[in-house]
Amino acid sequence: MHESSLPYIQCVRCGHSLELETFEEKNEIIEGLLSCVQCNGVYPIISSIPFLVEDLSLFFSIRAKLGGYLLLNVKDKKIKSLIKQSLQEIKKVGDDITDLERNWVGIYKKSKYSAFQIKVRHVIKKLPQCDFVVEHGCSIGTMSEITAKSHGKIFGIDKSFFALLEAKKRKINNADFFLADSLSRPFGTMKFDIVVALNVLELIEPLQLLKIIKMQAKRFVLLSDPYDYERGKSSVKVRLDEKSLRSKLKQAGFKLINNTRKPSFISWKLDVNPRLELNYKVDLVLAAVLRK
Ligand SMILES: [Zn+2]
Repeated sequence: MHESSLPYIQCVRCGHSLELETFEEKNEIIEGLLSCVQCNGVYPIISSIPFLVEDLSLFFSIRAKLGGYLLLNVKDKKIKSLIKQSLQEIKKVGDDITDLERNWVGIYKKSKYSAFQIKVRHVIKKLPQCDFVVEHGCSIGTMSEITAKSHGKIFGIDKSFFALLEAKKRKINNADFFLADSLSRPFGTMKFDIVVALNVLELIEPLQLLKIIKMQAKRFVLLSDPYDYERGKSSVKVRLDEKSLRSKLKQAGFKLINNTRKPSFISWKLDVNPRLELNYKVDLVLAAVLRK
């Protein structure tokens, strides 16, 4: 985490500002602890990634394997004991998704640039230069890196540690990445010129995410999705399709622009393994905040 990001983040439990203790530093904070003086919440920074999660035990309850990996790799004793304690306090163990999250990093890394990424890059480059951008579900940082080339400061949020590790490897000076739940408001009520959320409606409750987006967006919103809601147990509760997404955006005070009023079907290819290729047809929506 860049130290300059500190004023922009907040305690995800109570919304208070955070104090930083640095244990290892090299151009940025590699290991450290963020703590809240108001509610005593603590958030470790591991491998330059701040874990802004409300309940670490709950986070590790489906990622005990990640917890074990972190225990082995973290150097600082304070962080080690925090992880250990969180692992011990797990109340109910769920199916571990550590390997799944790690496998998806491999798939995203392998997958070549498809029409979808090219289109999004084009849209982002054409937007007027902006100071602050947030990307929900930034994953390995492909789009954050592209966005950072033409805009000011980029904040990426994702819940996958291994994906963020890849994003950090890009060493983008004007981008920082946070392990957090988009719905827990790690940036408080901060406004962003552009809010980006690509292919995450299956993963983050759409209506709640739209509420956050409405609150955050100052100028533009860039959304895309293949509406692939068939995820069994982990499916979101309220599904939005191409029509309902557009009507919700209009209701929230956005104007659809750049020929995105009508649904699109842009190819997004993912190489899952040598014998399996996913070819999504993604819908892209660019909207502008209507001035009052
Ligand atoms: Zn707090």
